Amino acid sequence: MGIADRQRFHRKYERKGPDECWPWKAATSGFGYGRFKINGRLYSSHRIAYSLSKGRIPSGGGWHGIEVLHSCDNPACCNPAHLSIGTHAENVADMDAKGRGNRRGSPRKYQVTPDICAKILASGAPATELEKSLGIPMKTINRVRRENGIDNAKFKSFSALRIQPEARR
Ligand SMILES: [Zn+2]
Repeated sequence: MGIADRQRFHRKYERKGPDECWPWKAATSGFGYGRFKINGRLYSSHRIAYSLSKGRIPSGGGWHGIEVLHSCDNPACCNPAHLSIGTHAENVADMDAKGRGNRRGSPRKYQVTPDICAKILASGAPATELEKSLGIPMKTINRVRRENGIDNAKFKSFSALRIQPEARR
């Protein structure tokens, strides 16, 4: 993204206080997200706001569905302080918790950063151990693994296998 595009982008939202929402003033999508065109392609304004302030948004591969989330619940907001990234599952869970979208299951709000996501996926430890070492709810660990096509039952059986020989002694 060139300097001219950046300058154009920063003129399209209202920069308010550091804790306030910075509303997008130009065109929005049907869902209320700001739209911004670069080289003829449309982008979501909150995604641009995030990447300009915090760097590239991870995508593809093992990440499968990383999204930029609004802590303020305001789709048009471009304040980077209100933006974070999480998996699509976390976004849906967050919407469930806040009563948006389709309601299924109990409220879950834990946000998984790519850093934590990588740790969960790289680790061969059972979810119960990760829960303690990373301080993340076990449900979230299981969900991240499930979302990335890793069967958590595999880890349970690993730990069972590890424990068995000692138990026999
Ligand atoms: Zn906001």
